[in-house]
Amino acid sequence: MNLFQKQSRVNRRSFLEGMAVLGTVGVGNPANLLTLLTTNAPLQEKLPGRGEFIVRGAYVMTMDPTLGDLAGGDVHVRNGEIINLGKGLMVRDVEEIDGQDMIALPGLIETHWHMWNTLLRSMSGDEKKHGYFPTSENLGKVFTPEDMYQGVRLAAIEALFSGITTVHDWNHNIRGPAYADAALRALTDPGIRARFSYGYYQGQPYDEMVRLDDLACIQREWFTNPSYSLLTLGFASRGTECSPKVNRCEWEAARQMGLPISVHANSSSQWTGEIEYLYKERMLGKDIQVIHAISSTPAEIEMLAETGTSVSLSPYTEMRAGFGFPKTGKLLDAGVLVSLSVDTTALSGNADMFAVMKAIQNVENAIAENEFKLPPRRVLELATIDGAYALGIADRVGSLKPGKRADIILVSTKHINIGVFTDPAHLLVEAAQPVNVDTVIVDGRILKRRGQITVPDVNQVIHESNKSLTTVRQRANWW
Ligand SMILES: [Zn+2]
Repeated sequence: MNLFQKQSRVNRRSFLEGMAVLGTVGVGNPANLLTLLTTNAPLQEKLPGRGEFIVRGAYVMTMDPTLGDLAGGDVHVRNGEIINLGKGLMVRDVEEIDGQDMIALPGLIETHWHMWNTLLRSMSGDEKKHGYFPTSENLGKVFTPEDMYQGVRLAAIEALFSGITTVHDWNHNIRGPAYADAALRALTDPGIRARFSYGYYQGQPYDEMVRLDDLACIQREWFTNPSYSLLTLGFASRGTECSPKVNRCEWEAARQMGLPISVHANSSSQWTGEIEYLYKERMLGKDIQVIHAISSTPAEIEMLAETGTSVSLSPYTEMRAGFGFPKTGKLLDAGVLVSLSVDTTALSGNADMFAVMKAIQNVENAIAENEFKLPPRRVLELATIDGAYALGIADRVGSLKPGKRADIILVSTKHINIGVFTDPAHLLVEAAQPVNVDTVIVDGRILKRRGQITVPDVNQVIHESNKSLTTVRQRANWW
């Protein structure tokens, strides 16, 4: 262990404990940072416990090909695990959750999201100098770890509210060890399941490597600790936005650490041939996730399929940024594993995965000029079980089945925008909105109930995020 690692370890542990105790202390202030580093109180466990309960009488969509759908079905959960599924289960003396008029399904799985950007929600402006890339770079450069915490936590809580139980935090603003810790704390505090992909920082020079020693430190400290079992680690690569030598070195280091790698490639007609390059360099594979892939040629789509590389599509940012339309049908037809993502709410505005599903279906049908091209049930697979495969967690989540972890959402069909019960897959993709999500369960913890986030206080979270954004704008002189 070198001196840097030693310091980083001490700082990191103290920082975590400090964040938990002091909540939203401005760590950009040296006096506050000192307080954080000298606080040794234990972490407060504020999340609801993993108890035992049964969801009764819901329309259960297991998304498991063998189990199928169960009308009037029950789901029995104990200590975070699905114990049993069926009709009229004989279970007594446990808490009951009424599933009447509800669709129960696996929590939605999001597979690529720059969550710190949620502090910059809808801030991509109307002219080039205020577009998404200059906005996120100029504001990102003045972020403190506290701003990172606020942005990622705001995103995580919006995700839970919207029925997303797993996110992929694609973090490209790690300006120092405390930033990664702040993001990880912001993911663990609300209780969401997440892949955290450790990346670069805004404005990082073309020839500068990502801090691989800090990444190793993060892997040791966070990902060998059973308290953080909902987290998995990945690497967020710049791809062609850094020098080929740096890219190659980082890629090899991540693979040596056993980390899956994610990269934006062929994002629009401005970026072409990147997938062919990665293929020729033997960099693609089952451990690689490519984002967007919009300008891919038929030959490049074949390269993705041949190597087992998955693709994450984020239709709202792809359309809003003028990247083009996702090639969902062509990718699926070639046998590529496709999953869905939010990308950045600086462009998309919100993290509504129901809307993402609807856009994926509608764009594909429009391109194909075919009402029947992409059925809603297939789209639901992309947002659940296929997302789980893409993140390497399909053994745990993505479908409802005995032995899997209990990541479950209940969508009410009693609201005016979804009332009258017809085809449940069509209802979820075409009619449902986040406000219809009645209950969200992650790893057996009930994090949303009767339409309300159970922990923490959402108004307080928004208030603190606004405070953080104000200071970011002041520091960047960006209004
Ligand atoms: Zn992205």
